[in-house]
Amino acid sequence: MDQIYQEFDDPYWSLLAQAKRPSRYCGCEWGANLKGNSGNPRKPLSARASSRSTLLFCLAFPDVYEIGMSYYGFQILENFLNRLPSVQADRVYCPWTDMEALLRKSSLPLVSIENKIPLYLFDIVGFTLQHELSYTNILTMLDLSGIPLRATGRSSKHPLIIGGGCGALVPGAILPFFDMFCIGDGEEVLPELCSCINDTKSDSRDKRLSACSKIPGVYVPGIQNKVKRVYSINMPPVPESLIVPSAPVVHDRAAVELFRGCTRGCRFCQAGIVTRPVRERSVTEVVNGITNLVTKTGWEEAGLLSLASCDFTGIEHVLRSLSGNTEFGRRGFKVSLPSLRMDAFSVELAAGMEHVKRGSLTFAPEAGTQRLRNVINKGIKDEDIDLSLEFAFSKGWNRIKLYFMMGLPTETEEDLGGIIEIAARAIRIARSYKNKRAEISISVAGFVPKAHTPFQWERQNSISELKEKGRMIKGKNKNRSITLNYHSPEQTFLEGVYARGDIKLADALEFAWRDGARFDNWTETFDLARWNRAFEKAQVDPDSYTGERDLAEVFSWDFIDLGVTKEFLLRERDRALSEEITHDCRSACSGCGMQGLGCSLSRNCGKPDK
Ligand code: SF4
Repeated sequence: MDQIYQEFDDPYWSLLAQAKRPSRYCGCEWGANLKGNSGNPRKPLSARASSRSTLLFCLAFPDVYEIGMSYYGFQILENFLNRLPSVQADRVYCPWTDMEALLRKSSLPLVSIENKIPLYLFDIVGFTLQHELSYTNILTMLDLSGIPLRATGRSSKHPLIIGGGCGALVPGAILPFFDMFCIGDGEEVLPELCSCINDTKSDSRDKRLSACSKIPGVYVPGIQNKVKRVYSINMPPVPESLIVPSAPVVHDRAAVELFRGCTRGCRFCQAGIVTRPVRERSVTEVVNGITNLVTKTGWEEAGLLSLASCDFTGIEHVLRSLSGNTEFGRRGFKVSLPSLRMDAFSVELAAGMEHVKRGSLTFAPEAGTQRLRNVINKGIKDEDIDLSLEFAFSKGWNRIKLYFMMGLPTETEEDLGGIIEIAARAIRIARSYKNKRAEISISVAGFVPKAHTPFQWERQNSISELKEKGRMIKGKNKNRSITLNYHSPEQTFLEGVYARGDIKLADALEFAWRDGARFDNWTETFDLARWNRAFEKAQVDPDSYTGERDLAEVFSWDFIDLGVTKEFLLRERDRALSEEITHDCRSACSGCGMQGLGCSLSRNCGKPDK
């Protein structure tokens, strides 16, 4: 039989019965493998063969199913790939530790979720790289598939291992484990890359890698020393359908991307820099896209996604149009704006959207004082915060979640105290509306300086500094209606090491994995002691990666040309240190380097804001 997975005499079925959450592995999702899904009839995948004309592409997410299925970009990529001629795509997620043990015990390889094909039979395994603390999971997935961990150990019989997503823009620490990286939007790079890999099936591995290296947006380590990001000038079409998860996932809803990029220019935010320029969809496309997806899938909630959804030019039209849909009204349909800004306009939008009961409202002021918000260019004022809180409590919300960072550049004790002051003000505002049940939940994460941002040269706070700051904030909180949550300083430290890492960290990654490191972004599996042993064995000093960097340093990611210039980043760093705000791109262009590279806003914005 061509199809490897046979339901009733299949050894994987007995493993599912022993796994903690079998639904993570069983597939059988609505929309997967259905004729007509993604507009393309999908035949069962067959084993890899050089004579086969179809290219088999396995999209790999290095975390568990419920996290990966909530990541919209992963689904749209699969949908996109399945529309390409001669490409058939499938997905795989990292098995949790119990399933890893079961697979090892039974000597069964890791298989894709829809068609149960072992990963080693695919032509391409493409990892989505979203978080530094999921890197050890990549090694688990390769190893469980019988694919050599390092590119140097692979031959032409192995799949090509590709990395994409924001991690591919800082690939130093994972370089030896990949054959190549996609730099930029998958929709732009993948069609040519898939054709090239399909056309060179009978060539040697070196010849194929060399052919791939000539494709814009593809970086093959050891062949190129410079690569330019490629991106779509227009938004790709909204998918015709999406796969509905067969198990509870973090974000269980239909989703449409409103736009890519961000005009706000927050100086700590890597996504805001690496996705420039802003590219918007039309209102009609968004409304039709949501209506079609919700009608087809039966979801009763839709997310309007982007880095700052309320900045979408047609947001009011979209919401008006969706709330005017009588069928949606009958079904109690909900729309969510996951990235709500702290201003009256955004809260008013949220108030209009919540047809059902008032849940909690989440905002991210990021810093406790106006001064520090100017440093990070957050662009919200104390008055905005108070007005949004007043509006929220007056409209009946009881629970407000506030996200902050600690350890930001130039931070003082006053800034940390400001976090509690904002929360205390929120409680006072709630009481002024006779709201006695108001609860404020504060979440504080340690700041991690990210590559390609104006803060890429800054020092990261040590574990003990973050712990001390956490204690300080806690000590200032005297109100029982305010609860505090902290991200683990140890995990923040490890994230910081790999966020600005280089190739010297690759050995440490492998040592830690061999010592048992798995799911480092999960508190129950994370163990810093393993990493300390690994750093020692690899003879690297992790503190040297989180320390302050010289302005003249050539970074391991500098060879990637995103379009945004280093001069702009340095200029923004200077402005941060002198507490100067840089205007939103929609009101003034600050000359980031994207002028003439598809940024429609720079044409309208007059002189750069220097
Ligand atoms: S070119 Fe100007 S308007 Fe466009 S993203 Fe850069 S700073 Fe903003």
